[in-house]
Amino acid sequence: MVQTIVALSTPPGAGALAIVRLSGPDAIAIVARVFSKKSLAEQPGHTLHYGPLRDDATGQIVDEVVVSLYRAPRSYTREDLVEITGHGSDYVVRQILALLLRHGARLAEAGEFTKRAFLNGALDLTQAEAVADLIAADSALSHQVALNQLRGGFSSELKALRGRLIHFAALLELELDFGEEDVEFADRRGLSQLLVEVRGVVSGLLRSFELGNVIKNGVTTVIAGRPNAGKSTLLNQLLREERAIVSATAGTTRDFIEDEVSLDGIRFRFVDTAGLRDNPADEIEAIGVSRTRQRVQQAALLLYLFDVTELGPAEVAADVAELLGGRKIPVLLVGNKRDLAFGNEELRTEGRRKPMKNEELLIADFALNKTSVAHSSFLIPHSSLILISAAQGAGLAELQDALLAQVRGAGLAGNASATIVTNVRHARALEMAAAHLQAVADGLTTGHGTELLAADLRHALAALGEITGDISSDDLLTSIFTQFCIGK
Ligand code: GDP
Repeated sequence: MVQTIVALSTPPGAGALAIVRLSGPDAIAIVARVFSKKSLAEQPGHTLHYGPLRDDATGQIVDEVVVSLYRAPRSYTREDLVEITGHGSDYVVRQILALLLRHGARLAEAGEFTKRAFLNGALDLTQAEAVADLIAADSALSHQVALNQLRGGFSSELKALRGRLIHFAALLELELDFGEEDVEFADRRGLSQLLVEVRGVVSGLLRSFELGNVIKNGVTTVIAGRPNAGKSTLLNQLLREERAIVSATAGTTRDFIEDEVSLDGIRFRFVDTAGLRDNPADEIEAIGVSRTRQRVQQAALLLYLFDVTELGPAEVAADVAELLGGRKIPVLLVGNKRDLAFGNEELRTEGRRKPMKNEELLIADFALNKTSVAHSSFLIPHSSLILISAAQGAGLAELQDALLAQVRGAGLAGNASATIVTNVRHARALEMAAAHLQAVADGLTTGHGTELLAADLRHALAALGEITGDISSDDLLTSIFTQFCIGK
């Protein structure tokens, strides 16, 4: 028997409004017992009703509310669903919930409304997951990608792929049914052509996960450099420039400050590190350096900042090589205090400008020395060196452009209308599918028997089906929906 569930669907705490949601076969009957203004049982779906909510035990009015009525199957869960909009006070909400529980509803588990929507076919699994992503979206791109997924963009692409593979799988199974007789219903050439296509799409989706991850979690950018290079000054400038500051939280250790800035819809998480080194023999500094290196290991991007009046290309290259410790991540070289090196003229003019003669020389110098850093992804698109004056806020537009170019240049083109995989679960399933598809392709070239081909294809189909929930287990569903909050 399907139970009727209830939960607060708006955030707890004081607010103008609070919405308590019920879903299930008795949703309307339960609310009707405490809302006597009119007979809710007789009202059609998609209607609103204003009136008092009364505690039938004490006869007291709990709140003046608006009842929104949805009748199955035209509701979020496809069940009878009622939303009670009351005043946003924790006390009132507790009273309303207690009243409804007394009348036969039970408290919903985390994500249970959306789980029911999935089980009743209103959403597939990727769409259900997109609901959680949409609620968590905090940048233009993450919002766009979640919305695309919610609207079924990703699912329809996968379903088309599966549909075509299923056709071949069915033909192979048919061959198996004929057993001994040596028949081939499934055209092997056609199958291998299809495999090339499908594997191309799957690997494209897998590649998009890198961008998906960036969109969802931001680009972790470590700002490193020697003490007094101007790291704090630069970070403050970046945060001040960008009005859409998402959050400003202290890092996990007091050596690190983490701040998030959204540039052009892409979230950058800047990690300001302790100074690189002044005196490497100093024990405390050595700890700072090793921590900085650890952070670099986890980062997507390294922004190496140095004082142009202090360091030359060789020192910069040595510092960067030390920080990277062999890891290949994009590096942005940023020379600071250009005002000291080249004077103050022109610097106060806003926006982009041509580098001055001396700067051009310096940039060329760095370009030549770049090869001294044994690091293949060290090539920086457009310019090898960006000169700024953090204190005066000059050159920041170029720096921001370069940051974005790094993200896009790494194959992370910000095309949010294309299907982008943002979910680790989806990426893992795609990896599984890719491996099984590879096995089918290999089997075809080495002339595997029908049985092996069919088995591998079945596994690939299962992996793809897990993404949309065409194939799902209770464990999988539980692990997905418990990540939701109660009331969703
Ligand atoms: P950090 O140790 O790398 O965090 O460096 P700070 O941000 O604390 O800066 C060190 C010193 O350099 C401070 O006195 C800053 O005012 C100064 N400074 C930072 N940026 C510039 C700049 O662009 N030009 C000049 N002239 N001084 C700067």
